[in-house]
Amino acid sequence: MKQFLLSFFLLVVLLPASIYGADNVVLITFDGLRWQEVFTGIDENLATHQDYSPQSDLIMQRFWDGNANDRAEALLPFIHQTVFAQGSYAGNRRDGSCAAVSNDWYFSYPGYSEILTGVVNPTIDSNSKVPNTEATFLELLESNSLYSEQTAAFASWDVFPFIFNVERSGVHVNAFSIEASPADAQEIFLNKLQNAIPSPWPTVRNDVFTHQYALSYLRREQPKVLFISYGETDDFAHDGKYDEYVFAANRTDGFIKEIWSTLQSIDQYRDNTVLFITVDHGRGESPLHSWMHHSSQQATTRANSGLVEYADGIVGSEATWFAVMGPGVVSGRQIQTDKNCITSNRIAATLMEFLGEDYRDYNPAMGAPIQVLFD
Ligand SMILES: [Zn+2]
Repeated sequence: MKQFLLSFFLLVVLLPASIYGADNVVLITFDGLRWQEVFTGIDENLATHQDYSPQSDLIMQRFWDGNANDRAEALLPFIHQTVFAQGSYAGNRRDGSCAAVSNDWYFSYPGYSEILTGVVNPTIDSNSKVPNTEATFLELLESNSLYSEQTAAFASWDVFPFIFNVERSGVHVNAFSIEASPADAQEIFLNKLQNAIPSPWPTVRNDVFTHQYALSYLRREQPKVLFISYGETDDFAHDGKYDEYVFAANRTDGFIKEIWSTLQSIDQYRDNTVLFITVDHGRGESPLHSWMHHSSQQATTRANSGLVEYADGIVGSEATWFAVMGPGVVSGRQIQTDKNCITSNRIAATLMEFLGEDYRDYNPAMGAPIQVLFD
């Protein structure tokens, strides 16, 4: 018995010091969903605007409330009632909490590359389909036998195979296109549906396909590191359809709820998974019509940007937000930052630290982990 107690004691003492550790991380992005909607709900001026919201009556009925918190909760019930309640979050600039990109552009490829690689590389300055010279944290982890063939990414936008550099990285990436090697009857059916249901956009598929392929892979392969990028919010915004942007945000909240409940139904993931949610960039707020766009001054003043009338850039579109929950993450806490915004280049190292990995062993140029999450 003494010996048993001794070995038990040694086991407890010698276990990896992972009071906040997890064996799995899931990173999810909404493309260009503004912090304004996340923390204060739908915008009355945009939701009642006859050009931006032909379905004004419907969205006001479903998502309007005089109280900003209740309004935000009506739009994103899972994020508010579960992720914020059980985790930590930042980005509500009206409440002393600031998050931002640190790249110079405020559009998607530089934004996702910053999030996923932890590095701001000045040569990444467009959304062109160029293989990423930087390595995502998924690719870096693939070099470790613990994570070999344990990473996967699902995305609606057709540039993601380049952001992940699929030729080099070894990360399983399903982005925009149907599943080339469907593994079961459901994936064959998903392929049929995706081929038959038109997407409104030439380079972005309907998010429901990204979601369903991700769920299918998650259940079957149970990767330790999963990335899902939903894209509809940004594209409806560029189209000037505020009502559809609002519906897309609400649908995506429901998708994330389903991912979380699926994770909690599988032994490998239950109480052993960190969920991190964020965005690649913000959008404009003032003047009102700038809500449709996002880009820095450097970007809008470039030839053929299409946004030359915005000589100061799309003001405020560097603003992001994030929310994280899982083992050890303080619950119900808004991170106060004052003016020191938490930048997106720290997310990759943060997720590695949750796994018990030190980013400096992989790429010391990455932004350091968001330490306040581990206090
Ligand atoms: Zn965009």
